[in-house]
Amino acid sequence: MFAIERYNKAQNVKEAVNLLAADPDAKIIAGGTDVLIRLHGGSKEYRNLVDINGLAELKEISEEAGGAVRIGSMATFSEIMDSDIVNRCVPVIAEAVSTVGGPQLRNTATMGGNICNGAVSADSAGALLVLQADLEIQGIGGEREVPVVGFHQGPGRVSLKQGDVLTAFRIKPENYKGFGASYYKYAMRDAMDIATIGCAAAARLDGDKIDELRLAFTVAAPKPIRCEHAEKTAAGKPLSEKTLEAISDIVQKDVKPRSSWRAAQEFRLHLIRTLTQRVVRQAIERAGGKF
Ligand SMILES: Cc1cc2nc3c(=O)[nH]c(=O)nc-3n(C[C@H](O)[C@H](O)[C@H](O)COP(=O)(O)OP(=O)(O)OC[C@H]3O[C@@H](n4cnc5c(N)ncnc54)[C@H](O)[C@@H]3O)c2cc1C
Repeated sequence: MFAIERYNKAQNVKEAVNLLAADPDAKIIAGGTDVLIRLHGGSKEYRNLVDINGLAELKEISEEAGGAVRIGSMATFSEIMDSDIVNRCVPVIAEAVSTVGGPQLRNTATMGGNICNGAVSADSAGALLVLQADLEIQGIGGEREVPVVGFHQGPGRVSLKQGDVLTAFRIKPENYKGFGASYYKYAMRDAMDIATIGCAAAARLDGDKIDELRLAFTVAAPKPIRCEHAEKTAAGKPLSEKTLEAISDIVQKDVKPRSSWRAAQEFRLHLIRTLTQRVVRQAIERAGGKF
């Protein structure tokens, strides 16, 4: 059985914040697909749990009057994949979460858990980084909104304080309207496998030139990253093979992959180069560009 010492099921977000604030060792359990694995492995970190599963206020997916898309942190990957709003406004998120685990896992696991877990390989991270999503966080001091860019601090570490509950992801209209976007996960198996490399791109065009490119990678550094050098290189460039070459050359400056049992560093660098061209091309084509 799991070595759980204290378990509280929160009835609302305010109560969850108070329960976490009252017990410095307490941790949130959402879908439990990371937490229960950790407990199963004997981790002592999760022996005091505050359960936020079933909080309806955290499951909503909506489109605000001003066009911002809001996705509750407790929305499961299956609910996100099936959402009309997500598929119409920010389909790259549905594309990314459809690569997570298998159907059973996607029916339970949440995007909130995927990001707050701080995993370097989180499949939703790349899509959220190129859409420059904001995170709504409820804490002891009230509500705050922080950008997902910079939220990851290192393997397993994110900018959350004790008492914090991530309540929703918010994508402003200026961060998705007019953009084509794409996500590709390279893994050894087509399902039930963690990414060897994940790559996401979003592109907005100005006629036959790139107006703005956003490029993100997972498992290419000690945390999910945006690629500043590649993005700067792309701005204002014509839609051409030469431009894709230039972007995939310079991206080497943005990444710092390591070797692991899944892949050697050289192979990851090769993947990064290849996927940059493939995913940027697809993002540009989805924005209406032609090569
Ligand atoms: C078989 C299997 C296959 C998997 N395959 C993949 C895969 O292909 N790709 C992938 O990216 N992941 C994969 N995962 C990992 C996992 O499923 C995901 O990271 C999932 O999104 C975690 O969500 P959860 O709701 O289950 O989180 P939980 O396990 O409940 O929580 C995860 C962490 O986030 C914290 N947390 C959760 N919600 C919040 C919140 N709202 N506010 C603050 N903190 C919070 C918890 O305290 C905990 O530290 C896999 C896991 C398993 C078991």
